Amino acid sequence: MNDPIIDAYSFPTDIRVGAGARKLLPSFIESLGLKRPLLVTDRGVAAQPFVADLAKLAGGIPVFSQMGGNPDESQVQAALSAYRAAKADSIIAVGGGAPIDVAKALAIVAGNDGSLFDYAIDAEPAKAIEGPLPTIIALPTTAGTGSEVGRSTVISENDSHRKRILWSPSLLPKTVIADPELLVGLPAKITAATGMDALTHCVEAFLTPAEKNPMCDGIALEGLRLASQHLKTSCESPQDLDARQGMLNAALMGAVAFQKGLGAVHSCAHALSTVADMHHGLANAIMIPFVMRFNEDACVGGFDRLADAAGAPNRNIIAWIENLRAEIGIPNYLSAAGVNPEHLERLAAVAAKDVCTPLNPKKITEQDFRGIFEEALG
Ligand SMILES: [Zn+2]
Repeated sequence: MNDPIIDAYSFPTDIRVGAGARKLLPSFIESLGLKRPLLVTDRGVAAQPFVADLAKLAGGIPVFSQMGGNPDESQVQAALSAYRAAKADSIIAVGGGAPIDVAKALAIVAGNDGSLFDYAIDAEPAKAIEGPLPTIIALPTTAGTGSEVGRSTVISENDSHRKRILWSPSLLPKTVIADPELLVGLPAKITAATGMDALTHCVEAFLTPAEKNPMCDGIALEGLRLASQHLKTSCESPQDLDARQGMLNAALMGAVAFQKGLGAVHSCAHALSTVADMHHGLANAIMIPFVMRFNEDACVGGFDRLADAAGAPNRNIIAWIENLRAEIGIPNYLSAAGVNPEHLERLAAVAAKDVCTPLNPKKITEQDFRGIFEEALG
């Protein structure tokens, strides 16, 4: 007889959500016993007035913001230099997925010897991330990746742009402060792309058969429902705090749900970011209907449940997603986002090897990826 399968559920992050929640930062710094935090953000976010306000609110702490774009190892090294120069003991991560991922990687190299990628999940041999790591408090400024409640960080190699994943439960921020007022300045384009990332997390986490996790399934469906209610409004009325908060929750829920795993939409998005330096959310937003169409025959009951959660007319979840995409200004095809036919071969090869590929609800080969990318090219 086989051993019984024991399923694992874990929802450990302390989260505060609401307009003005950032004012709780000093009390969390105190209750967590943080003496010298370093605020980590990127250049784009640092240009917003609330970053200086947060540093002041936290007791005049130093700010590191010498980073931008997709996170790579050089940014982690620069953050480590700033962390050491400030004699910091903890990290306040403020931003979208990139600064939060750099903050997590910084926590690894600040608390462990050796170089960052010694700890990547595909390193041979992979070194174990030893705790305790510096405490992280995360304040998301986008509603998308949900990295603030995730156990992994994705950092690119400097020259090859190859994405390396580092994973450990100790990378989880201790506290997340999700304040919709920090999102009102986010441009509609970024709101749309990051919001589609959150939506894709809910869809792929729900569909992956990788692990049974009915708690995550419930969270994924409700996250999708929230995205269906609030994504369009967040794009059209950037100051709508109710919509911004709805999307912050959808992003948190998408990322909590994907502790189950993701699927081939993310394999494609990771490849598009490696090969064509495409924004992660935009890549998911363009690819999701093409991959769902490929998966359709393996997911009939699952698609119905997603359609019900989203309130999709005629229970057609793919048509609903395509319509939403059009309404928020996402292009239909990759060609509109700088991808050309010369990229196809490498995109398919990189996607086929991605860690999310074995978790897709339907077996998918490099040849399948090639066909999907070709169709998505337009
Ligand atoms: Zn994602």
